Amino acid sequence: MTEQTRAAGADTRGAARPRPGNADLHCHSKVSDGMLEPCELVRRAHRNGVDLFALTDHDELAGIAQAAEQAAALGLRFVAGVEISVTWGGETIHVLGLNIDPGNPTLLAGLARTRDGRLERAREIAAQLERVGIADAFEGALSHVGNPQLISRTHFARHIVASGKARNVGEVFSRYLTEGRPGYVPHRWASLDEALDWIVAAAGVAVLAHPGRYRLGQTALWSLIESFRERGGQGIEVVCGSHRPDQYLTFADHARHFGLRASRGSDFHGPGESSVDLGALPPLPADLVPVWEDWQ
Ligand code: AMP
Ligand code: MN
Ligand code: MN
Ligand code: MN
Repeated sequence: MTEQTRAAGADTRGAARPRPGNADLHCHSKVSDGMLEPCELVRRAHRNGVDLFALTDHDELAGIAQAAEQAAALGLRFVAGVEISVTWGGETIHVLGLNIDPGNPTLLAGLARTRDGRLERAREIAAQLERVGIADAFEGALSHVGNPQLISRTHFARHIVASGKARNVGEVFSRYLTEGRPGYVPHRWASLDEALDWIVAAAGVAVLAHPGRYRLGQTALWSLIESFRERGGQGIEVVCGSHRPDQYLTFADHARHFGLRASRGSDFHGPGESSVDLGALPPLPADLVPVWEDWQ
């Protein structure tokens, strides 16, 4: 379908909402590993021209009420979201739940279970880091945490940058926090089935986050996408702050090939740390069906 026929279709629907020109459906607040409060993110998105916005903290919905309230005050269209940590084939995969009901008890209970174990993992990460000369790693990471339920590798990375042992968060990940490195602790997250069940229970749309970031060969990635779709997944991130521009084209092709809807999101974590600001990405290719196509 061309932009023109889409626009003509929209006209015939009469009272249909205008098609968003700048949707940003992926970002993080202090409630997980972002640097801003939920209301600050909403104000920044609005200032940057975003007209459809989702907050998608890792495994946590505690920022949604504040974000929704600020969005309503500004007249910014907002949907509740979450980014669920999943273990699939031994790899960590992220699945976005968009336009969810944030009060759904199945989703809330599942996320609470997924968060369990982060503190224990953080203590192990800290012990390993101390062995390679990072002093006060646990306390240091905690000093960057906004939600004690959600201590993440990002908080360790910020502590290590602040202590002068690395220049930026990316460098900390490659030197310390990824598989084979001295601060890496494997962790078992939710299963793909669980994450999809919770999102479906909460009447949301499940979107495979940043597929270009996984260390999977083509066969494994295709098998992941097949399983994801068979079990109710509907969308894939195409234009995303965690993708390189050439990957926008690659994953646009995946959306077409697998018949998935496309999503767009900056994956913004904070000013000075994230390379892509809220609302700053290019648009989705016009022939893809956006995940928000039929949202009210
Ligand atoms: P965790 O849930 O504790 O395993 O932390 C995962 C988070 O770490 C992701 O959501 C990213 O924000 C961040 N992260 C992972 N890999 C990298 C990387 N290579 N560079 C910067 N941040 C990363
Ligand atoms: Mn993150
Ligand atoms: Mn992610
Ligand atoms: Mn993210």
